[in-house]
Amino acid sequence: MSSATDIVPESTGTAGAGTRIKINGVSKRYTGATALDSIDLTVEPGEFLTLLGPSGSGKTTLLNLIAGFTDLSEGTIEIDGEEVNNIPSHRRGLGVVFQQYALFPHMSVADNVGFPLKQRKVAKAERMDRVAEALRTVGLGGYESRFPSELSGGQQQRVAFARAMVFNPRALLMDEPLGALDKNLREKLQLEIKRIHQEVGRTFVFVTHDQEEALVLSDRIAIFNNGHIEQVGTSQELYERPATLFVATFMGESTVFRGAPAWQGDNWSLDFHGAQLTGRRAPFSGPAALVLRPESIKLAHDPAAVPDAHLRCPVTVTQSIYLGSGKKYELGLPDGSTGIARGGIVDGAGIQAGDRVLAHWDPERGALLPDTGEESIT
Ligand code: ADP
Ligand code: MG
Repeated sequence: MSSATDIVPESTGTAGAGTRIKINGVSKRYTGATALDSIDLTVEPGEFLTLLGPSGSGKTTLLNLIAGFTDLSEGTIEIDGEEVNNIPSHRRGLGVVFQQYALFPHMSVADNVGFPLKQRKVAKAERMDRVAEALRTVGLGGYESRFPSELSGGQQQRVAFARAMVFNPRALLMDEPLGALDKNLREKLQLEIKRIHQEVGRTFVFVTHDQEEALVLSDRIAIFNNGHIEQVGTSQELYERPATLFVATFMGESTVFRGAPAWQGDNWSLDFHGAQLTGRRAPFSGPAALVLRPESIKLAHDPAAVPDAHLRCPVTVTQSIYLGSGKKYELGLPDGSTGIARGGIVDGAGIQAGDRVLAHWDPERGALLPDTGEESIT
């Protein structure tokens, strides 16, 4: 492709090829606020990576830095090994979809979708073919001559996807693209985005604050909190081996036993309001939180029914919730906090709200984490 145009040439890779995006020590400061503090993150070629975190945690800032819409304060961003800090947005070859549809209102659907191709001086006949194909991919075949005002919100967002994909971008960046849509439509489009990702095999970076959405879509998830990344991993890794209390409480439900552990080498013990909790892990200083997933906790009326090796804590059942596939119990802990159990009842007796029971669990199932006070309330 000639260098006459200022726009990056189309990627020549086939499906399955993908672009690596590497973020090295990137910070972004505004006067009086640090939006991102020394972020390191690599998006692997062809992967679907989601930036997940509460509002204000820095997700959009990072996406805008990758896209080149904002200048960084510190660090470097590499796309396929090339540092792009000084490369303007339109030469980075990335497709972008925002929450607001951002279509050109005075242009037809075909002209909207064909716009990136026109910028790249693709001839009209080819442009029309590729617009038609992109529209078919997003389920809007035949909509070429409509105008944005004649489309529903979901349809407008499909057009935005088609426009972002039509020039074979090196990667597709999406910032809460389904945030303005109602739940049913959102779930339908999630599955379509996943299908499109599998079909085109390109690198996708997706921003959401909705953990369910992240679970449905992602190969890996980066959990953002207050301008830094808490942990990056598959949904299974984040759920089963949360690295921080924030991750444990942001991804899925958990019960948290807090206290000041005593250490002897790698062995810790924690007196939780009289319950003696113990375990092993690499020591750390300061207060701790023992975190358990709902399915790890079993309940028993009869202490004799609790296996010897189990840890145990007396709790009050505050609610028994029928879920069809099983029951979920809300627990009142001795420190006044609330826990959740979904495990079976080991002594066979029915458990009802108001019952005083023993919560017990296999010590292998609990994770002792530093208690930073940064519990996520979801
Ligand atoms: P998220 O997308 O996770 O909701 P953002 O990246 O939009 O978070 O914002 C991260 C932080 O940076 C927030 O505290 C926000 O107030 C701040 N911020 C974002 N843009 C600006 C700006 N233009 N000027 C000042 N502060 C900003
Ligand atoms: Mg945002």
